[in-house]
Amino acid sequence: MPTSKVYFTDMRCKVGDGLLDKLDRLIQKAGIEQIDFKQKYVAIKIHFGEPGNLAFLRPNFAKVVADKIKALGGRPFLTDCNTLYVGRRNNALVHMDAAFENGYSPLSTGCQNIIADGLKGTDDVDVPIPGGTYCKVAKIGRAIMDADIVISLNHFKGHENTGFGGALKNLGMGSGSRGGKMIMHNDGKPTVDQNVCIGCKGCTKFCNQNAILFDANKKARIDHNLCVGCGRCIGACNAHAVSNESGSSNEALNCKIAEFAQAVVHGRPNFHINVVNQVSPYCDCHGESDAPIVPDIGIFAGFDPVAMDKACIDAVNAAPGIATSIWGDREHTHHDHFTDIHPTTDWRTQISHAEKIGLGSGTYELITVK
Ligand code: SF4
Ligand code: SF4
Repeated sequence: MPTSKVYFTDMRCKVGDGLLDKLDRLIQKAGIEQIDFKQKYVAIKIHFGEPGNLAFLRPNFAKVVADKIKALGGRPFLTDCNTLYVGRRNNALVHMDAAFENGYSPLSTGCQNIIADGLKGTDDVDVPIPGGTYCKVAKIGRAIMDADIVISLNHFKGHENTGFGGALKNLGMGSGSRGGKMIMHNDGKPTVDQNVCIGCKGCTKFCNQNAILFDANKKARIDHNLCVGCGRCIGACNAHAVSNESGSSNEALNCKIAEFAQAVVHGRPNFHINVVNQVSPYCDCHGESDAPIVPDIGIFAGFDPVAMDKACIDAVNAAPGIATSIWGDREHTHHDHFTDIHPTTDWRTQISHAEKIGLGSGTYELITVK
């Protein structure tokens, strides 16, 4: 595998030189100015954060990126697609409300928010996937495909189905329309271990499909005819009673995410930024954010989203786990924070499949920017 350059700056700030200044220097050193932005529409793919979650990226980071693009002559907009599951981002109206509530407005970021797959999540484009083996075509939100350039601005953290969430997840799953998300999820329909379930019904309010039923013994059961495999109930169950039937389902999900990410960036200029702070164990799609599993690490940037995600995984795994987080509740048998916390999924499949289809390289050179 060729070696890709990944640029990194840590969280330390001298008086008068804040993290936003460091982000500006980082993306410049990483080469964002090599892209010809003049008069180009630039999709900045972001996750606005589910209301109630406090780990999502502050809009201040987005403003630095949008200002840079505007200074280089581009026309940036912040964008995301609607979700499959119940929550505050499953149609464009509530999604825009959520973005504003979390501070994303033209006043704070200097650019507009566009929900890429439209009012009901149906405005998508069928995009061929070069090298795709699980899917031949990805359903991607139209506004993302209409853009000339794609920038991903990602909060790097854990994820209950994929182990970690970074650039590949934000690009792949996040750019999928509701139909696209269904394609990625539908191999992963979970089951409930009734020996573990305590019948609290906590999972039911997270299920948009009314797929969680209760047997006479008051234990939960998932009707796979109704379930769309969104995975929300897995993270919702405090008793850890819900899991995927087999590792192969999460493996397929990880591979499909890589393939959708390939569809989004292929043939267009693209650039990626991962902020590794508030490394919560779960996705920002949750309406809460559990305590970070490691201390804040820094910001990574570069042209190769695979190398960047791998660099972030390595940095998190090299950091000490925080004993007062979920990390402290787990047995540390895998010597890998993500696998210790989410043992039913193997994050490696996302990286290795992305490499296999030519999206990028998991081999990288880390260049520190002060
Ligand atoms: S949240 Fe978990 S323990 Fe509670 S009913 Fe659902 S599956 Fe059972
Ligand atoms: S049962 Fe779980 S995975 Fe299936 S649709 Fe409901 S929340 Fe999603």
